[in-house]
Parts: sequence; C-alpha cells; structure tokens
Amino acid sequence: MDFNSHADAIVRVAVGLVNELTPGERRGRAFPLPRDLAAAAAEGLRTGYPNHREVTEGEAGELAEIAARLRGVFDAVATGDVDAAAMQVNGLLEETRARPLLDRHDGEPWHLHFHGPGGTMAGDWAASCATGLAIVLGSEFHDRLGVCTAPHCDRVYVDVSRNGTRRFCGTACQNRVKTAAFRARGRVP
Ligand SMILES: [Zn+2]
Repeated sequence: MDFNSHADAIVRVAVGLVNELTPGERRGRAFPLPRDLAAAAAEGLRTGYPNHREVTEGEAGELAEIAARLRGVFDAVATGDVDAAAMQVNGLLEETRARPLLDRHDGEPWHLHFHGPGGTMAGDWAASCATGLAIVLGSEFHDRLGVCTAPHCDRVYVDVSRNGTRRFCGTACQNRVKTAAFRARGRVP
C-alpha cells in the first residue's frame, strides 16, 4: 500500500487496540474484556509502535472506549457500508479535533502527528487512529479494513496484500478454516 509509513503504523495501532480491547471472539474462543486492561492496551499500541511505553489503568479504560468506537468503523466496512464508516470516522475526527502537525523528536525525522488539543495520551491516540482510518477510507483502498470471516472470530485486520483478498485476522484462523474445509470434503462421499 502507498500510505506513508507513519500512517501505516497508526492504522496498525487502530487494529491492535480493537483486537486487544474489544470483547467478542478470537480464533474460535470467547474473548472477554481483558482483566489486565493496561497490559492489553500496551500490547495494542505496540502493534504499531513496538517501543510504546506502559499504560496506566485510567488510560487503558479510555483506550478501551476508543477501541469500541474504532471497531464500529471496521464492522461497517466489513458489511459493505462504507458510508456509515465514513460518518463514524468524521464524527471521531470532529470530537477529537484531530489536526496535522509536523513534529520531530527522539532523533526521528520530521513526521506528521494528528493529535487533538486535549493533551491526554488516549485522546491523542483517538485523534491519530481516526486520522489513519480516514486516510484509508479516503483512498482507493477504502475496502481494506476487515473483520475476520472465520467461525467464532471477530478480530479485525487491515488488508495490505497486493490483490486485497485477505479474509482472516491471521494465519491461525486461515488454517482453522482450511482444515475444517478439508475435513468436510473428506466426509462427503
Ligand atoms: Zn480470526
């Protein structure tokens, strides 16, 4: 995909936050809201930013609320309702007052941040994730946000494959479905 690398990382964070912080099902099993929300939130953020700092309980709670909103965007795209996804992203952009600002820190080159004015970590991530998803929805790759199609899994993904044919959250679910199909064929005379 042709997003800039910072936007790519932000979209990966959005995926990570949804997958770690929204209850549902994962790879064939129930996935309740994690008991250690702070650890789960940090893991979600590290999906895009491997060196992200630890997260406090309070921040994790806020991030979980944001993750629920972000999931709505993936759900809408997965059901083919890109209009609804766009409306949800616009709502988040307005609420978080995301705005682009070039920043340079920690020895990195200049890069775009999309922070809101609130100055909280969760608020900054809400603004950034909303912007990242807006970049995807506003591009020719608008249908690349997805929800796993394997049975009993609702984890989300961003499809960066060349032909855009991804259907699963990961290889575990892909293999699960393949194995089930193989067994089903074996039973048919
Ligand atoms: Zn899955």
